[in-house]
Parts: sequence; C-alpha cells; structure tokens
Amino acid sequence: MLWSLLKILFFVILVAALAYGAGILMETGPGLRVAVADMEFVLGPLQAVILALLTVVGVWLLLRVAGFLVALVRFLNGDETAISRYFSRSRERRGFQALADGMLALASGEARLAMSNAAKAERFLRRPDLTNLLSAQAAEMLGDKGRARDIYKKLLGDDRTRFVGVRGLMKQKLAEGDTETAIKLAEKAFVLKPRHAETQTTLLQLQANAEDWKGARKTLNAKLRHGNIPRDLHRRRDAVLAVCEARDLMVDGDEPRARDLSIEANKLSPDLVPAAVMAARAYHAQGREKQAVRVLRRAWEAQPHPDIAAAFAELVPDETPQDRILRFGQLTDVRPDDPETRMLTAELAIAAEDFPAARKALGDLVDTAPTVRALTLMAAVERGLGSDDEVVRGFLAKALGAPRGPQWVCDSCATVQPAWAPVCGHCGGFDTLAWKPAPANQAALAGASNMLPLLVGGGLEKSVE
Ligand SMILES: [Zn+2]
Repeated sequence: MLWSLLKILFFVILVAALAYGAGILMETGPGLRVAVADMEFVLGPLQAVILALLTVVGVWLLLRVAGFLVALVRFLNGDETAISRYFSRSRERRGFQALADGMLALASGEARLAMSNAAKAERFLRRPDLTNLLSAQAAEMLGDKGRARDIYKKLLGDDRTRFVGVRGLMKQKLAEGDTETAIKLAEKAFVLKPRHAETQTTLLQLQANAEDWKGARKTLNAKLRHGNIPRDLHRRRDAVLAVCEARDLMVDGDEPRARDLSIEANKLSPDLVPAAVMAARAYHAQGREKQAVRVLRRAWEAQPHPDIAAAFAELVPDETPQDRILRFGQLTDVRPDDPETRMLTAELAIAAEDFPAARKALGDLVDTAPTVRALTLMAAVERGLGSDDEVVRGFLAKALGAPRGPQWVCDSCATVQPAWAPVCGHCGGFDTLAWKPAPANQAALAGASNMLPLLVGGGLEKSVE
C-alpha cells in the first residue's frame, strides 16, 4: 500500500519536473541554462532531451534501488523472506511470461517452442502442476508418446493434477488398443471426478465392450444423476444393459434372477424387442400367461418383429395350426396392415394349408413391398394353389434379387448385424442397432441366377420380364 503510494508520488514529481523543464526550454529559446552550485551549463535542445531521458532512466533505477532498499530494511528488521520475495517477484513475472508464451505457442501449433517455454517457466516458477500440463500437451502434439506418458505419471503425484494425469494415460491406452488398462484408468478417473461427462461416456462404452453390464448400469445411473443424459434415453439404455445382464445370468443358470431382470428391463423399455421377448419367456416360466401376452402385444404395437411372433408361438408350443391361427389373433389385430403382420398371417395360413387365406393376407405386398420373405411366401402360396411351375419359379427368382426388408442396422456405421446386440459388431457403438431396412449398398445381393442356377436359371429370362 505504502509502496504503491510512493510510486504514484514519484510519478507525479517526475511529470512535474518534466513540465517545469519544458517551461524552461521554451523560455530560454535555443539553449537550456542549468546552474549547479556555482557553475553554469548551457545545453542545446537535443542535449536537453537526452538529459530528460537520462532523468527518466535515473528515476527508474532509483525506484528499483528503493524497492531493494525497502526489502533490505525489512530484512534487517527481522522479515527474513523480504529479500527472497523481492527476487522471486521478478522471477515469477518472467515465469508467467514464459508460461503465457508457451500457451500461445501451443495454440498456434508450435509444439517445440511450447516445450522450451514450458521448461523455462518451470525454472522460474517451480510450479510443476502448471508447467507439466503445458509440457504434456506439447509432447502429445509432437507425437512424443513416451515423454507425454512420463509427464502424465508425474501429474499423478499431485492431488490437483491427478485427474488430468489419469485421463491422459487413459487416452494413450485407448489409442494403443490396451482396453484392459484403459478401463482401470477410466474407473479411477470416474472415482476422482464422477461428474465429468466425457469420463462417464468413455467408461460406459468400455464397460459395455467388456460386457461388464453391472458396472455399466452404475455408470449410466451416475450419468443420469449428474444430468448428462435425458431421462428417456437413460431408461432405454438401462433396459439394454439389464437384458444383457439377464442373458448372462441365464447362461450361468441363475434363472430366477434372470427372469426378474428381464421383466425389469421390459418395464424400463416396453418397446425394446429383446427385452419383451425375454420378459414374455420369464412370465411364461412363472405361469403368468396373461402378462406374457400383454408384453408381446405392447411390443408388437411399437414395432412388429419376427422375434416377437416367435416368442408368442413359444407360449403354446404344441397347438394345431388352426388353434394357432385363432390364438395369434390377439397379436395380429394390433397392427393388421403392417407388412410384418400380413406376412405372419400368411405364414400361419400356409402352415394350416389354407392357401387362399394366405394369398389374401399377402395381398399386394409383392408389388408394394417386394422383400425376400414376401416373395418367397408368395411362391409357397402359388405352389400350394397348384399354379404353374413357371409362376412359382418367377417369384423365387424375384425373391433372390429382392431387398431383405427390415434388419438390425447400426445407426452409427449403417452396417447390418446378424442379430440384436447391445454393441455394434462393426463400429463398437453402444445401443445403436435399429430394426429398419438396410441402406441400398448393404442390401444388394448377388445376382439371382448364380445363387440357384438349376432352379431359376432357365426360367429367369422369361419370368422376370
Ligand atoms: Zn456400427
């Protein structure tokens, strides 16, 4: 306080002296007369300006000396750190300057300059928590993985920088493909900073890949608690993880627990096909047939899917085809016009050898949505009705070149997966599979005639046209 007051005072005196000097300069015309003791000097304008500059330098030096003297007096009065503080202030200034330069160098992509500035800042500041961050980033930018790793390890030693160290090492392990170590580091980072959204996402992905469903559910719940995921998405993903956990329990032979989890998953997300199928089986095993039918109907309403129909058939495995048609009415009346429902009805009718009913159910499906399945069913219907072989072969030939219809397609990488899974087998995305028609480039099948040359090869030309 006193020090800054002194500084201001010096500045005022300096300005006053300069103004006074300028006044004299004006009055005396070309020369400046300075009287010291009994002697008198006459200075020209240039010399006067030089004198003024010298005065400024002199005042600055005086300020520095005064600052040092103040520190010295304090030291003599018993303030032992006064002198070291005087010097450390200037060190600090230079250190922070180097740090700032380093950060600017990093931002402009000059990794080597950033690195040397970090070393300089470290010399002056002795604040490894600050300078190591800069060095680590510079090393990453230079591609010097070993050096970056060493610095990250150093960061682990300080409470303030531990998270950054763990995160840096985790990213390195992920890039190297060492997921086992990466998952341990991600867990550590999650303990250090449970709110950190990026850590939650990485950990969840790693846990899902490692099929640690229980751990993944915990991480997912933390995501919800800290507001990093919408509630409805959380419910769906929780259901996905619960289904997977239930599957594993089923394999391990813990059926009661697996059933409870399946039902829980279905309650979380009634639209999720695998959850509905597993819940229906669970209810069936518990003798709760009504609930089993209810969950399948609900899932069919959201998305008619062959797996739901298969699970519905499992409920009464040994019924006659006629009984089955009657019972399936509970399912097929939910979305009667959906292609899936129509093909299901046709299949049931074919099984009961009621070919006219099957043809009625298919209707114009072979023209409006000609998929492999619709065309194959039509071929079976024509065969059953006793149509010409030519007609049957015509439908089969068309079926071979037709699109597959809806499949499990990854929303993220657009590849077709053979069965539903929580993690895409191609890109590793979590909960990315959707039941929908495959994109055109994936749906293309090999030419029809070389797949069944003996059956359709001959009649192909005629029947396709
Ligand atoms: Zn994918």
